[in-house]
Amino acid sequence: GNLSPEAEAMVERRARVLGPAYRLMYETPLHIVRGEGVFLYDADGRAYLDAYNNVASLGHCHPSVVEAIRDQVGILATNTRYIHDLILDYAERLTATFPDALSQVMFACTGSEANDLAMRIARAFTGGTGIVVTDNAYHGITESVAAFSPSLGPAVDLGPHVRTVPAPELYRGGGADLAARFTADVEAAIADLRRHGIRPAALIVDTLFSSDGVLPDPKGFLAGAVEAIRSAGGVFVADEVQPGFGRTGEAMWGFARHALVPDLVTLGKPMGNGHPVSAVVMRPEVCDEFGRKARYFNTFGGNAVSCAAAMAVLRTIERDGLMENAERVGRHLLEGIRALADHHPCLGDVRGAGLFVGAEFVADRESRIPDRHRASRVVNRMRELGVLISVTGRSHNVLKIRPPLIFTEANADRFNAVMAQALDETR
Ligand code: PMP
Repeated sequence: GNLSPEAEAMVERRARVLGPAYRLMYETPLHIVRGEGVFLYDADGRAYLDAYNNVASLGHCHPSVVEAIRDQVGILATNTRYIHDLILDYAERLTATFPDALSQVMFACTGSEANDLAMRIARAFTGGTGIVVTDNAYHGITESVAAFSPSLGPAVDLGPHVRTVPAPELYRGGGADLAARFTADVEAAIADLRRHGIRPAALIVDTLFSSDGVLPDPKGFLAGAVEAIRSAGGVFVADEVQPGFGRTGEAMWGFARHALVPDLVTLGKPMGNGHPVSAVVMRPEVCDEFGRKARYFNTFGGNAVSCAAAMAVLRTIERDGLMENAERVGRHLLEGIRALADHHPCLGDVRGAGLFVGAEFVADRESRIPDRHRASRVVNRMRELGVLISVTGRSHNVLKIRPPLIFTEANADRFNAVMAQALDETR
């Protein structure tokens, strides 16, 4: 790469002061100083089309959110120990976007915290401790959540109460039996927990299986697995940190694709469009036991400023029809990338829902052997050409394409032209 001397000095400063655990993206790291709409701008003023950042899902620095935060922080920034109308207004507005049964919400600041809380609630409700996840799942960063985030392995050990099941990959041999096989895998995981004297508490999945490689199809394949965990006395937790808030285009929540109602749902990332706010939405009865025994006070979770930011996000999604936009532009984007795959056999599979697309690189279409090197070269070439994406999947061979919900067809065409060039220029 051709990193400027200034940027090189900053990379060294980072290592010195932030230590070794942080990772930068791209072979030539970016020095980003500003964001606006679908673009990020580097220190030289160069614009990058951001097709990766699903936190700034309304676009970077959306004026409605900026204004809501600025206004509220000048009026009151305090916690949930006082009566305040913003938290109530937002909680009602948020739960109104869920099926009727999911009528209660608790607030936190990060997706990890939401998943941590969801598990505490699930354990209190079920009396169990066992957790079933997919084999490259990521659910977060705390000690307890990292223990059921196998994508962090092998550096992080799974908990003794955790069982993994193969990710439901249609492209790799799922066929028409995918749902039956996934159900059987979850049943086997539950049986193994029992064999070790562990009562199952929960099946938790990202309903779009982002870290497993973006696995949207076929619609409805989760139903059997959810039935299995429930009949074993456990609950189903839908992790909507990635697919939630309209990204899939067809619905506000990814679980709708599977035509089921979860027991608990966790939210984060785009909820505040950059402001840290997260939540657990649930059936009220699920929280009875936890609520009776535990007190829950999260200093910043649900504070007035977070609620103002989150309210602005939800209002904007609804007012600007961003879910419908995600569906329409997502379809256009997916079709464009599929057309590229027609001429590039290295793209073994292109799949997606709304504005979340996965494009899988393979050595050839017969063997379907994952090609992480080509995926990485395309990502880095696209970055040089001014378009930002990344990779996902256990083999790091799936392009993770996740533009903001305000993406236009023209943005998608630009994306496609750059991806076409990157495919032509890499081997
Ligand atoms: N769940 C999923 C599916 C995620 O992708 C992430 C973050 N990548 C988390 C949970 C954790 O969220 P946070 O980083 O806000 O703690």
